Amino acid sequence: MTIDLGALAGNWRALAALAPAAATGAAVKADGYGLGAVPVARALYGAGCRHFFVAHLSEALSLRPHLAADATVFVLHGIAPGTAGEFIAHGITPVLSSLRDIEAWASAARAAGRTLHAALQVDSGMNRMGLSTAEVDALVAAPERLAGIDLTVGMSHLACADTPEHPLNAEQRRRFIAVTGRIEALAGARLALANSAGILLGPDFHFALTRPGIALYGANPTPSRPSPVAPVIRLESDILQVREIDRPEVVGYGAAHEVTGPTRVATVAVGYADGYLRAAGNRGKVRVAGRLVPILGRVSMDLMTIDVTDIPPALSAPGMPVVLVGDGLAIEDVAQAMGTVPYEFLTRLGARFARTYLGGES
Ligand SMILES: *Cc1c(COP(=O)(O)O)cnc(C)c1O
Repeated sequence: MTIDLGALAGNWRALAALAPAAATGAAVKADGYGLGAVPVARALYGAGCRHFFVAHLSEALSLRPHLAADATVFVLHGIAPGTAGEFIAHGITPVLSSLRDIEAWASAARAAGRTLHAALQVDSGMNRMGLSTAEVDALVAAPERLAGIDLTVGMSHLACADTPEHPLNAEQRRRFIAVTGRIEALAGARLALANSAGILLGPDFHFALTRPGIALYGANPTPSRPSPVAPVIRLESDILQVREIDRPEVVGYGAAHEVTGPTRVATVAVGYADGYLRAAGNRGKVRVAGRLVPILGRVSMDLMTIDVTDIPPALSAPGMPVVLVGDGLAIEDVAQAMGTVPYEFLTRLGARFARTYLGGES
């Protein structure tokens, strides 16, 4: 896997330019969507990003030492019981999404004898994370629950931002404004609602801080519209063996592909254990010598078989490269052939893909 950190930084700048009134953050959870959270975050820091979002405290702990003190690392999952001390010790900012989170952080502030920063997440209609309406009511009735907590960010998350015409977008925006308006402690906070696709919904959705993820990594966040970003990754494997078949035969597990005429079958050193999903069997395409060729039969754990009948033998011999993503083969197309989305495809790319970074300090 080759990761172009220059393209990544360019995508961040392009998204920042689309929301000029807001600060632009970055979702770098799940190891930077599989690209490597540390090099990704350092490249984004270099481009000007100062707000980084991960899911787990463990992700924040491994990222934090690689970023300067003026970067904030937010943990979206909040404070697991007994971990508040680690947040404080390592300068990590929790996203408080429940009264239990608020209680844990307020009590940590009391114990530390100082004010602690946090983000507060409210549910605006996705029913996944954030304070429920009942919890907001309880908080508004007893604002002292937030004693010792300085809320720097007030956030919520959109369920349907990739579908611009979906009525839930405007409804979530309306509820987000209403709910955050009720919480006095958010008066000085930056409000944040938009993920990548949310940025493309326009200025009404930008508020003061955005949290793009997938678009930074080169995928079009709104498939029905032209992409605002450039590809970032290239994925390559190589050919291990070639079979010349000139009579009816089958290929791979389950005899799931039947060869009829003369065929050259190449075996490629990648499989579902690398995150090249099994669902791509008999459906996906790869590039050999610049041409698109189909996957034949099932994808195995460490191997897959492709049809190189139309590729000159010298260019499809053992050792020759096979492009899985790149040269116009987009992650959207590859993911679609697997019956999934770029998010799942990227975050499943396995450790056996050696990561090579271009255009960064690493
Ligand atoms: C993952 C995530 C994002 C980034 O979403 P993209 O669709 O990848 O841009 C933003 N906010 C929250 C809360 C997230 O979980």
